[in-house]
Amino acid sequence: MSHSADSDDLFAMPGMSRAAPKAGFPQHGLFAEVAYEIVHDELMLDGVSRMNLATFCSTWVDEQARKVMIESLDKNVVDKDEYPQTAELERRCVRMIADLWHCPDPAATQGTSTTGSSEAAMLGGLAAKFRWRQRGGTGTPNFVCGPVQVCWEKFARYFDVEIRQIPLRGDRLTMHPDDVAAYCDERTIMVVATFGQTFTGLFEDVAGISSTLDQLQETSGLDIPIHVDAASGGFLAPFTAPELVWDFRLPRVKSINASGHKTGLAPLGVGWAIWREAADLPAELIFDVDYLGGSVGTFNLNFSRPGGQAITQYYEFIRLGHIGYTRVQSAIYRAAGRLATGLREFGIFEMLHDGDPHRGITAVAWRLTGDPGFNLYDLSDRLRSRGWLIAAYPLPADREDETIMRAVIRHGFTVDMAELLLADFERCVKQLAQHPFSTPLTRQEAGGFTHTATAAVPNKKIDPA
Ligand SMILES: *Cc1c(COP(=O)(O)O)cnc(C)c1O
Repeated sequence: MSHSADSDDLFAMPGMSRAAPKAGFPQHGLFAEVAYEIVHDELMLDGVSRMNLATFCSTWVDEQARKVMIESLDKNVVDKDEYPQTAELERRCVRMIADLWHCPDPAATQGTSTTGSSEAAMLGGLAAKFRWRQRGGTGTPNFVCGPVQVCWEKFARYFDVEIRQIPLRGDRLTMHPDDVAAYCDERTIMVVATFGQTFTGLFEDVAGISSTLDQLQETSGLDIPIHVDAASGGFLAPFTAPELVWDFRLPRVKSINASGHKTGLAPLGVGWAIWREAADLPAELIFDVDYLGGSVGTFNLNFSRPGGQAITQYYEFIRLGHIGYTRVQSAIYRAAGRLATGLREFGIFEMLHDGDPHRGITAVAWRLTGDPGFNLYDLSDRLRSRGWLIAAYPLPADREDETIMRAVIRHGFTVDMAELLLADFERCVKQLAQHPFSTPLTRQEAGGFTHTATAAVPNKKIDPA
């Protein structure tokens, strides 16, 4: 370094005497350690990710996973010829997941890693659209679903497919099999069942929906496939509720997506899309790239993508195995169960999902009973002052009248942390009872930090404030 020893304290270095560049492209650079410290320190303002119970995504991995990620920093997953072993590890993951989800022939089917469940959902939806066209479908295609994650609204808008969302009724908080047939017609390319709903964490009844569609086929001749959005449930139920039939054991299920970076325990940036049989992925969607003197098919929305996430997913699979995943996921359900039990004891919360592994994902969702003098946005705001990020939001249509709160419990959240959180709940509830906010916070003021129901109105500018 060229600067002198008497000024070599990091915080006395040139560049530290002014604010970080923010708008125009900076003319001059900084010493690497100065630039690093500035970036590092600015990130102190972010929330603590492991206290962010609004996210579904991994916020803890072990040392070896970190090492594998660093060692894979330069691997581009699309360069199959240059990094054939990265491609091989990705393909092994596809076979392992196909096996986990009961594909008829896991070694022969099609599947791919993606950036997350959103890309995997787009691919599943596109394949359904192409298959429907191959069968002679014409006009504007549609798909039928319950309350879905925003990626399905994106799929509908980006790819010109009508979304037919079945509204909620009363205490039916998931898409009910009885309601499905009325929304289907000859232009329905698929029914999307959510296995682990974003809003409540509850599983939709995929087997029930499948048998409704069997009956519909008998009476009308319509043969409508199912895509399962198992973003979170796909890496839970196989381990902790294996008797639940939601996957390729149902012949009508043609494709499934899941987020490796959620309950798959891989770091951020990986999802999976798997088809029942190779023939369920139309050939028009496949592009060939070079691979060890031959070629291999790819079908992703992006070209270059980091390879480390799929590599680390493989590490997690062989590190934990079926038994290890079962132990890890059971431990997370235990922490969720402890939180639900503790919340019930307050006497003011009713559980919509109490973390039962047979009913939903590793999450707890609740509503207020009666009027304790504050609402869930107030409570969310109060908890935030202790660092906990827990989302409060209205249910989707037609139950927007109901406000709920949801905590997603993940790898790295312990029973001890559940106790600490419950102690903070008690503190916050007491404080709110003694000192209610003068005006109740609205959803926007409370931050509305949920990614569940934030699809903007078409062409509406998002207010930067
Ligand atoms: C999180 C989630 C998605 C989107 O997944 P990403 O991996 O964040 O792209 C889609 N569907 C459901 C049900 C989800 O929970």
